[in-house]
Amino acid sequence: MGQAHLFGRSTGGDIPVAVGGDGCYIIDSTGKRYFDGSGGAAVSCLGHSDATVAEAIKGQLDRIAFAHTGFFSSAPAGDLADLLIAHAPAGIDRVYLVSGGSEAVEAAIKLARQYFLEKGEPKRSRIIARRQSYHGNTLGALAAGGNEWRRAQFAPLLAETSHISPVYEYRGRQAGESAFDYGQRVANELETEIQRLGPENVMAFIAEPVVGATAGAVPPVEGYFKRIREICDAHGVLLILDEVMCGMGRTGTLFACEQEGVSPDIVTIAKGLGAGYQPIGAMLCSAAIYEAIASGSGFFQHGHTYMGHPLAAAAACAVLKRITRDGLLDNVLDKGAKLDARLNEVFGQHAHVGDIRGRGLFRGVEFVEDRETKKPFDPKRGVAKALKKAAFEAGLICYPMGGTIDGVNGDHVLLAPPFIIDDGQVDEVVDKLSLAVSKVLG
Ligand code: PLP
Repeated sequence: MGQAHLFGRSTGGDIPVAVGGDGCYIIDSTGKRYFDGSGGAAVSCLGHSDATVAEAIKGQLDRIAFAHTGFFSSAPAGDLADLLIAHAPAGIDRVYLVSGGSEAVEAAIKLARQYFLEKGEPKRSRIIARRQSYHGNTLGALAAGGNEWRRAQFAPLLAETSHISPVYEYRGRQAGESAFDYGQRVANELETEIQRLGPENVMAFIAEPVVGATAGAVPPVEGYFKRIREICDAHGVLLILDEVMCGMGRTGTLFACEQEGVSPDIVTIAKGLGAGYQPIGAMLCSAAIYEAIASGSGFFQHGHTYMGHPLAAAAACAVLKRITRDGLLDNVLDKGAKLDARLNEVFGQHAHVGDIRGRGLFRGVEFVEDRETKKPFDPKRGVAKALKKAAFEAGLICYPMGGTIDGVNGDHVLLAPPFIIDDGQVDEVVDKLSLAVSKVLG
């Protein structure tokens, strides 16, 4: 038995076969060990051999693996909803369990639409999002996302969406402008776009609190999301925060938006929720949204076969308990600060490093041809791809992204190691990345 008939992420090309996991390491079939410095794409927050999560899955498997949610709920699904709401942003009251991030975003978009229908505002159907964003690969989520490269081929299939500027301080803040003023300026683009479309036509604004896949851990500036919240409230527009990548403790708080002092109407999570042990995501919404549907048609017209899957919910309960009860958020903050310090020490003066950014164990390094002018590398050089390859050879998994970032070609590497990382391993990540950078950029 081999790999010949598998249709994976890419067509053709040999990639190693993963056969084992040991803490923060993945082991391939030749015995080579790789430090999982990006948790896949910010998934594996507990590493690859967490016994408590494995036990929780096995325990549930001994009881029952699956019962269709059209007929039954399950104990782990109920427990997971309780656990999530106990830690959720203010006002968030209900949990809709799905199997991943794109599904969570699709559910959020459809819930927003149905909410306004139930409220008697049927014209509200328009979504506003940001250019520098990724919300998933299914058609609704892809339409919301602002990543041109991912959207281009499928453009004729995508719902019309408005995209405003992201918060991208490194490139967006003008000389002499304070970070706060910059944040207000770009947030106010939402106001302008709502006015242009007519508030009565706008359903929701969706954004990642800390941008992941398209930009490499780009945090907002202070006050940005508070202004966004004000604008949404002024026009009755729902605020959807997509925490599929940055949520579940990745930035040092269970929900990234806690650090902005803002509560959304809907928030989506996935990745770290199952920590890679099971595929699971969730869409959480406010009591007001839930009530509008419960007291209206009584039925959210949506659903998937595997939503609320008991094995996935059992795994997520165990993951959440590990994150919230075993001091792992403290370790995210502590090791995140160390990772930031080490990255700055090693790359802070590097001729081809333009920006080092992020929060907690969610860090991005942006590479440029000229750090003074911020001129990006020629995309033909494929710097991010080459860095990924060189790091992989050195035994480090990091998540690269090349291509256009808000209209500018750029290359960055995202680091999102497991929350169990120790001091020595932080050094290992930075040392291996440094080897890769020397190999590719000198
Ligand atoms: N939303 C964000 C912010 C993401 O980063 C991703 C995946 O990278 C998704 C949604 C889609 O999640 P999934 O790949 O689980 O469908």
